[in-house]
Amino acid sequence: MIDVDASVIDDLVVANHILFDQGIVDAFGHVSVRHPKRPDRFLLARNMAPGIVTADDIIEFELDGTAVSDNRRPYLERFIHGEIFRARPDVMAVVHSHSPSIVPFSVVPTAPFRAVCHMCGFLGTGVSRFEIRECGSDTTDLLIRSQELGSALARSLGSSNAVLMRGHGSTVVAPDLQRAVYRAVYAEVNAKLLLDAMRLGPVTYLTDAEAESCMISTEGQVHRPWEMWKAAAIAARSTP
Ligand code: MN
Repeated sequence: MIDVDASVIDDLVVANHILFDQGIVDAFGHVSVRHPKRPDRFLLARNMAPGIVTADDIIEFELDGTAVSDNRRPYLERFIHGEIFRARPDVMAVVHSHSPSIVPFSVVPTAPFRAVCHMCGFLGTGVSRFEIRECGSDTTDLLIRSQELGSALARSLGSSNAVLMRGHGSTVVAPDLQRAVYRAVYAEVNAKLLLDAMRLGPVTYLTDAEAESCMISTEGQVHRPWEMWKAAAIAARSTP
């Protein structure tokens, strides 16, 4: 039994469903939240597709990726979450995805991935990049399968809100679960807008100060998309 309010588990289940319903995760990808009473632990679903996660599927983990609450098969890449929670005390929720429009930016180092519209201010004037080959091998399957790789990813993330993972996907972080989901959805939106804009000509990006102002104003209303996405995800699940 995980010692948290039922609402914490419920919100994590909803986050899984929203991310699937919004096309950010498919059968792969995952979302976690830091344990509200134990900052040295986090909650994450067992190894399964996010769209069908239920409250019973949530597992409590130590930051090193060891399961506390049971021994069902965990996600291979749980080290992404644990090592970011360890490195970033300000982070309370993490989303890792392979959302498709972002991947091109991960494989073209000269293509800046920065905020192009007010809804994406959290991206600022650029996000971090992770190159797994710099961890000593060019023969990996690109997955974050160990604490060492998780720790290297967290170092690449630094103080950013997002990190691009070359040839793999991205990870976004936030001070709460609703904002982590929001950022995962809008990072994908930003990628689509940016790919369109780059075809038209040189892009005018948000400045640091604009991005900061936009982040404060849009994320102050994060409950609005959360409630809408939650209702849409519930409706999608109940449609025969
Ligand atoms: Mn992955």
